[in-house]
Amino acid sequence: MGKNYRSELVGVFGCPIDENPTGVMEEAGFAARGLDFRYITIKVNEGDLGAAMQGLRAMNMRGINLTIPHKVEVLKYLDELSEAAEIIGAVNVVVNNAGKLWGENTDGKGFLTSLKDAGVSPQGKTVMILGAGGAARAISVECALAGAAKIIIANRDSRRGQALVDLLKEKTPVAVEYIPWQGAIVVPQGTHILVNATSVGLFPHVDQKPEIDYDTITADMVVTDVIFNDPNSLFLQAAAARGAQTINGLGMLVNQGAVNFTLWTGEEAPLEIMTEALKREFGL
Ligand code: NDP
Repeated sequence: MGKNYRSELVGVFGCPIDENPTGVMEEAGFAARGLDFRYITIKVNEGDLGAAMQGLRAMNMRGINLTIPHKVEVLKYLDELSEAAEIIGAVNVVVNNAGKLWGENTDGKGFLTSLKDAGVSPQGKTVMILGAGGAARAISVECALAGAAKIIIANRDSRRGQALVDLLKEKTPVAVEYIPWQGAIVVPQGTHILVNATSVGLFPHVDQKPEIDYDTITADMVVTDVIFNDPNSLFLQAAAARGAQTINGLGMLVNQGAVNFTLWTGEEAPLEIMTEALKREFGL
């Protein structure tokens, strides 16, 4: 056998994409496992995804991540979907199995793993989710599939909020409630897990936090944030000040990256090394 000079290619298609740090984490993982894989950060404009997916096939790429604005659009270029991706209606990772493209959504799975790592399970619990965008959809569907008793959705845009509520009612067995988001919303008593799945607080807007009545957060709640930059968000700081257990968005980010790593390589991801690489990147 001759020497192999060809690397396995994976990466991400998105726009904007320049500031997406996922490659740092995945490449650190490949190096640690001695895998000849390359993660390429690729700008694909809206409207160009079809050509990019053809390119992926033509170049025999092993897989790809999708981010804004391609997570829903990509569905029409795939051959198969996981159960969760089918329900969520969005895909953030594709695996190319000898020309057959399979789509999965690992955002919610990364979220569940970060809960598990903190000793928290959504099973039988009431979960309140702020937001109804892509992250909220993935998190709420995975919590429902993991046996949450009730999910409360709060969103400003009531059409988007109601659409997520209808999806959960139709496709999962969980009890669902919608709270219109006007002014500082109250976290209902009996909420076990509160999730910020909005984009409020994302760098550079680190001086912002979602508009809720923070005095309705109690010490028996677990409060989590999807925001990973800054991981010590104002939202989590306010929750910690009320005595709640807090979980930041870095765990979700690393864990979804770890699931993707395994889907592409078939190997267990070196979680600690990937986490450290990201933290270094964020100057933490
Ligand atoms: P979307 O654009 O799909 O959704 C954004 C959501 O935020 C909507 O529900 C929107 O409400 C809400 N929102 C925005 N501004 C406000 C505001 N001022 N007050 C209240 N609600 C607001 O984005 P995604 O769901 O894809 O991403 C959301 C965040 O999650 C991003 O910051 C992203 O970086 C992060 N994320 C983190 C991951 C991780 O691994 N940690 C993984 C995936 C995402 P409305 O509908 O009313 O406009």
